[in-house]
Amino acid sequence: MIHYTIFPKDLAGHLFEVSVTVQTPAVEGQQFALPTWIPGSYMIREFARNIVQIRATSAGKAVPLTKLNKYSWQAAPCDAALTLHYEVYAWDHSVRSAYLDQRHGFFNGTSVFLRVLGQENITHIVDIQRPIGNAYAAWRVATALPELEAQRYGFGTYIATNYDELIDHPVALGSFALGSFIAHGVMHDVAINGRVPNLDMARLCVDLQKICETQITFFEPTTHKAPMARYVFLVLATGNAYGGLEHRASCALICSRDDLPVLNARAESEISVSITSTDGYCTFLGLCSHEYFHTWNVKRIKPAAFSPYDLQAESYTSLLWLFEGATSYYDDLMLLRSGVIDEENYLKLLSQTINRVLQGSGRHKQSVADSSFDAWTKYYRQDENAPNAIVSYYTKGCLIALALDLTIRHQTQGQKSLDDVMRILWQRYGRDFYALDQANSGHGIGEAEAEALFEEISGVALHDFFQRYIHGTEDLPLTTLLAPFGIVLSMPQENPKTSLNVRTVQDGNDCKLAHVYENGAAHQAGLSAGDILLAIDGLRVTRNDAQDNLASHLSRYPIDSKVVIHVFRGDELMVFDAILQQDQTPHVNLNRNMQNMQKQTHAAWLGL
Ligand code: ZN
Repeated sequence: MIHYTIFPKDLAGHLFEVSVTVQTPAVEGQQFALPTWIPGSYMIREFARNIVQIRATSAGKAVPLTKLNKYSWQAAPCDAALTLHYEVYAWDHSVRSAYLDQRHGFFNGTSVFLRVLGQENITHIVDIQRPIGNAYAAWRVATALPELEAQRYGFGTYIATNYDELIDHPVALGSFALGSFIAHGVMHDVAINGRVPNLDMARLCVDLQKICETQITFFEPTTHKAPMARYVFLVLATGNAYGGLEHRASCALICSRDDLPVLNARAESEISVSITSTDGYCTFLGLCSHEYFHTWNVKRIKPAAFSPYDLQAESYTSLLWLFEGATSYYDDLMLLRSGVIDEENYLKLLSQTINRVLQGSGRHKQSVADSSFDAWTKYYRQDENAPNAIVSYYTKGCLIALALDLTIRHQTQGQKSLDDVMRILWQRYGRDFYALDQANSGHGIGEAEAEALFEEISGVALHDFFQRYIHGTEDLPLTTLLAPFGIVLSMPQENPKTSLNVRTVQDGNDCKLAHVYENGAAHQAGLSAGDILLAIDGLRVTRNDAQDNLASHLSRYPIDSKVVIHVFRGDELMVFDAILQQDQTPHVNLNRNMQNMQKQTHAAWLGL
C-alpha cells in the first residue's frame, strides 16, 4: 500500500505539503517520479519544477535522496518504511495543474503525487487534510475518488486501486456551491468554486441531466448503464477563462461566471428558457457535454499508444482527430438531441466550426493525422503563424466526424451511422474490455486500425475518404454531403468588405497584428504579426480599431485601393504600401430546405 498525505499548508504562499510513504521500498534504493504531462493535455509541462523542497526519512532518520533527472529521485536503500516529504507550489489557474489560496484549492495527482516506481499497481491511499484556521471550517472536498474513511465531501482518506486511478481523479477544495442530480441511476455532482452571485444551480442540474442521460443512452441504448459509479463536474468560475479536462469519472472545468445561469423570479412555466448559440451558457453546456463524452471516447476507448500512458515523455498518436474530433462533433449534437438547444442554434454552432476551419490556410499543409501526432509541439504550442501552418484536429476533426456520419448514413440508406461505429468501439475497447478489469494492458485502437474498423463496422468503403481527408489535406465536400439531409450550405457574397486580411488585437492603447493570413493584403505588403499599427493613409489607428479588425477604417476604400501603412516593428518605424483585398473571412451559412424525402434522414441524424 502506498500512503500519501496532502495538506494545504501555506495558502498565501500557495504551498501544498505532501508526503508519500512506501512500506517496502526497493532493495536497491526506491525511485520516485512526477509525470511531465497530464493525460488529455498533450504538452510536456514539467510539473516537477513546482516541487520546492524535498527530503526522505525512514524510522525517524534522514535518508539520502539523489535527484536523477528533471522529474525523478532515488532514496538510499533502507530497511524500514520510507517517507518522502515535499512541498508543491500551486498557482496555476488552469484545469491542468494545481492552485491554492485563501479562496479555494485544486489539484491533479499528476502535479502533487510522486509515483513510486515499480509499485504503481498496488493500492494507493491519500489523506486529504483541512487547512488550519477557522476561516476554512466550511471547506469541503469534491472529487470522484472513492472515500476510504472520509465522509462524502469530507476531508479524510480516499482510496485508489493503483497510481493510474489516483491521478485520474482531480480534487477541489473550498466552500463550493454544490448541486446534484441522478442520470440513469448514477449520482452526478456539480461543485462550483469561485463567486457566482445568484447562481441558478437547479436549472444547470436540469440541463446537465438531460445531456448526461442522452449520452448514456447513446452508448447503451438497451441497458442505459453508465460506465462509472458516480460522476463529478468540478467547476471554477472566474472573470473570463475557459477550459476543460476529461477524467474517467469527473471533469475539471474553468468558465466565466457570466456563462452560468442566473437565478431570477421566473414563473414555473417559464423555467425552460430557450438557449441560443450565442449564449455563454450554451458554450458552457457544450464544454460539459464535450468532457462528458470523453468518459467513453478517450478515457475508455483509447489509442493503443495511451494504454498505458508514458507519463514521463510524449505519447504519440495520429488518432486525436477521432478522440477529440468525434467528441467535438457529438458535444453540440448532444445538446440538440437532448433538447437543450434547437436545430436553428445547432446549425449556427456547426457553421461556426466550418468557418473556423476555412479561416486558416494551414489546413492545406497539415493533415489531421499529422496534427494529432504533432500536438505536443504544434497544436499545444501555437504561435502567430499557426493559422498559416497547422490545422486543428478538434475543428477539422469535428467536420470529419460529421462527414463520416453523413457518408455512412447516405451509403447505407440510414441502416448505419457514426453512432453505430462509436457504440461498437465502446463495446470492444471499453465496456467488454473493462469488464475484464485489465485496464493498462496495452489494449486500444492501433494507429493503423481505425480505417479497417470504420469500414468493418459501417460496411462502407472508406479508404478513399481516409486518404483524402484524414491523411490528406482536402477540404470536406460538406455541401454535397449535407444536401441529402435537407441542409443547404451557402456562402453569401453580397457586399464584400475591404480588408487587409489580418486579425488584430488590442495591445495596451495600440492595435496589434495578431495574425497575418497567408497571401492576404497585409502579407503581400510586407506586414508581420506583432507589428503595431500606427496609421492607415495618414489617419491614426487606435486600440478601438482592433475590435472590428480595422473595418471602419477601411470601409471608405473600394477593393484594390492602395493605402500607406505606418507601423512600429519593435521600436523601429516602418512604412508599407498595401493593395486592399476583399475580406476572406469565411461566412458559411447552414439552412434547412427540406423535400419530403429528406425528412426522415434529417430527423434520424439530428435525433428529432
Ligand atoms: Zn476534448
